[in-house]
Amino acid sequence: MNFGLNQEQENFKQQIIEFAGQMLGKDIASRDANSVFDRAGWDQCGTLLLQGLAVPKAYGGKGLDALSTVLALEALGYGSKDNGLNFSIAAHLLACVVPIWLHGSEAQKQRLLPDLCMGKMIAANAMTEVQSGSDAFELKTTAQQSNNGYLLNGHKTFCANAPIADLILTYALSNPDKGFYGGITAFLLEKGKQSFNIESIQKTGLRTCTTGTVQLHDAFVPTENRLNEAGAGGIIFNQSMEWERICLGALHLGTMQRLLEQTIRFVKKRKSGGKSIGKYQSIAHQLVDMKAHLEAARLVNYQTAQKLDSGKKVAMDASMSKLLVSELYKDMTVRLMQIYASQAYVEGSEIERNMRDAMSATVYSGTSEIQRNIIAKWMGI
Ligand SMILES: Cc1cc2nc3c(=O)[nH]c(=O)nc-3n(C[C@H](O)[C@H](O)[C@H](O)COP(=O)(O)OP(=O)(O)OC[C@H]3O[C@@H](n4cnc5c(N)ncnc54)[C@H](O)[C@@H]3O)c2cc1C
Repeated sequence: MNFGLNQEQENFKQQIIEFAGQMLGKDIASRDANSVFDRAGWDQCGTLLLQGLAVPKAYGGKGLDALSTVLALEALGYGSKDNGLNFSIAAHLLACVVPIWLHGSEAQKQRLLPDLCMGKMIAANAMTEVQSGSDAFELKTTAQQSNNGYLLNGHKTFCANAPIADLILTYALSNPDKGFYGGITAFLLEKGKQSFNIESIQKTGLRTCTTGTVQLHDAFVPTENRLNEAGAGGIIFNQSMEWERICLGALHLGTMQRLLEQTIRFVKKRKSGGKSIGKYQSIAHQLVDMKAHLEAARLVNYQTAQKLDSGKKVAMDASMSKLLVSELYKDMTVRLMQIYASQAYVEGSEIERNMRDAMSATVYSGTSEIQRNIIAKWMGI
């Protein structure tokens, strides 16, 4: 494995860090308190094609491989303090835009990808249902064939970006006898063309990423809005989760690096008993452990992205990377609460906000328990 960055990757990383530092994360405390999405920041990200990093240039994307996509998202997580906006971009790119690029018809790709890559359109992924989160096999939304399309009925929940989405990639049972593999079909719902209702959900963290339910009542979806063949939905969803488990974690690597650097400055400055608290071994060793684990998690993440680029199977690697990165992220923010002590235990403090944001990292894209189940299966246990 060689992770020496080439000049192009290095330059783009620096460009994103500088751009994010200048343009993103403004008024983050008040926008977090009021759950306000930064549409202007999103549009600015579109000028760098952050919403289409992995998509070939021919379809309006940035044309990066998975490792370079990881590097770019890590830079975004480092440079932008708006974890909600960062999450919106990753959810849009990895669970919606990538599946359209990998599975869409030529007509779908040409019609939708350029606007999605530039951020002119916002996409959401609607898989989860109230009774089927981890247990995606229990999905109840149905797609019944009707004339030149399908009638969709069901109730999706916890869909990131849904309240502001122009396009929703959703999954429905088109052949219950076949189950998850072969029985589920993926559909593209377009705002203004298909009928669906959205209700916003107020989350504990990542509040600047709007999230909602998607309700479908006899919603007609023409066959031309089906993604790939009937029954291909299970495979499309699993593949999108592999991309998300690898590349979304890169955002967290960047955020952790920024928090660690900020905390080193804090423990050098904050005094107790006549010396900096960083001089106490109990504090210093915690930061050392964070650094060591972060370096290790980064290597696993890069290695997995490189494996994805090589076309090899990455299901187990993606789950290992997701498990390591998300558990570290959550654990680190809880430890930072203790290190910053009362300064962090204030509504709207940066550390408190980051902790609330990090809590869900071990839930979305499959919980840690589900990642362990997947890894155990691939280990032959
Ligand atoms: C911030 C955020 C953003 C999200 N974005 C999206 C999105 O854009 N689109 C979308 O479709 N969904 C999204 N989700 C939903 C997410 O995918 C689900 O929350 C997740 O899959 C878990 O499902 P659940 O919440 O229903 O928990 P449940 O499945 O009910 O799980 C409850 C608990 O039981 C454990 N458990 C369940 N089954 C097993 C098992 N087989 N073995 C061991 N333990 C098990 C779980 O690990 C968990 O601890 C998002 C969630 C969050 C928090």
